[in-house]
Amino acid sequence: MIKQHLIIFALLCATLSPLHAQNNPEFEDFFHNVTLRVDYLRIGCMRHDTCILKEYVLQNDVWAGSTTQLLDPIDNGAYRILVKDAASGQDLYSRCYNSLFEEYRSTIPGRDKDSIASFEEVMLIPYPKKAVDICLQKRDAKNRFFTASTFHFNPADEGSVKHRHQKGNTIKLVNNGDMHNKIDVVIVAEGYGKKDAKKMQEDFKLFTNYLLGVEPFKSRAEDFNVWGVGFLADESGVTDPNADRYVNSAVGSSYNTFGMDRYLMTTNLFQLHDLLYGTPYDHIIIMANCDTYGGGAIYNYYAFSAVQKMSQWILPHELGHSIGGLADEYVEDDPNYNRRYENIEPLEPNITSLIDFDKKWKSLVPEGTPIPTKPVEGLGKRDNGPIGVYEGAGYMAKGCYRPCTKCMMRDYATFCPVCMKRMHEVFDLYVR
Ligand SMILES: [Zn+2]
Repeated sequence: MIKQHLIIFALLCATLSPLHAQNNPEFEDFFHNVTLRVDYLRIGCMRHDTCILKEYVLQNDVWAGSTTQLLDPIDNGAYRILVKDAASGQDLYSRCYNSLFEEYRSTIPGRDKDSIASFEEVMLIPYPKKAVDICLQKRDAKNRFFTASTFHFNPADEGSVKHRHQKGNTIKLVNNGDMHNKIDVVIVAEGYGKKDAKKMQEDFKLFTNYLLGVEPFKSRAEDFNVWGVGFLADESGVTDPNADRYVNSAVGSSYNTFGMDRYLMTTNLFQLHDLLYGTPYDHIIIMANCDTYGGGAIYNYYAFSAVQKMSQWILPHELGHSIGGLADEYVEDDPNYNRRYENIEPLEPNITSLIDFDKKWKSLVPEGTPIPTKPVEGLGKRDNGPIGVYEGAGYMAKGCYRPCTKCMMRDYATFCPVCMKRMHEVFDLYVR
């Protein structure tokens, strides 16, 4: 989610440390260089949820992800997809993620224990050569993953995999080489009508510049491929219930998601991924042709931003969520942003409840730093200030702490060193 503040530009170097290595299986032994898409519904309420398979889709005749980093070493996100060899039980592929359902559960209607809702979810996996179990995992009260639903996939059963016709037009905006060793980002044009063809092309370039314009993206620009997918609808703009505007746009997005004005999102994941059929991608940006301030993002799901005067700051902030899995570092009075970390350490690397601070940025805090650290007054708009333990983060004024006075995830300053470090770690998963 986003918060409006102004920022100026500055650079900061990140300290890098390797994540623990895992026993990644040999790609060739288990997978084809092809993308299988898993479409399912997550249905539930505050207390329970379950996943129901809709269908498998042969999404692309190439696999855009890494062929060496198959198992996700980063423990983040409420959910994980884990693909196991059906015969041996060996772990073959995994990715952690969040979903709009998890956001919904933190809203007022979602917190009603009897209020049941369903959300579309889509995961991409490399196409298995042999029968696999696709385990959809969630967390227990101690944040440990367990398998909640299992889908079986057998490549010998060819009739179980659906095909689509390509709907959107794909263009290559930045080509830095082999997609297996690059972070492939696709920008999806949303809210462009028949008369907006030229503006759409201009906006693709604008968003590519915003994507690669700030650190850590800027110094890693050669690690990215960027694609654009365009679809011209009959009318322009996106739905905004507050303005009494309803539009049949490419992916059916809307402001005011869960009653929050600026929360611009789509629940139509199947429609979105149909539009992306045939385009290789690791991460999705939805670029909405609408000048009202708005956006949103979910870890390994998608990032959303309107094309308007704040986009160059909204976009990197949202990519902090969707690529980096970072938390918001700001405080929010809106009761829709209800989070509590009284008995648990949050999963995101850039906030802490101090319950397990050793796992967070404790090693970067100079000895003798007071907790909570007093925020620095009068900092430049892009400056972070020194690393410490600053109270007020993760929407909470008390009991949740952030690494610096300012950060991209708080007020559109430069990403703080803790956020920067995690972004580099995630980038490395795609390029190594
Ligand atoms: Zn930060």
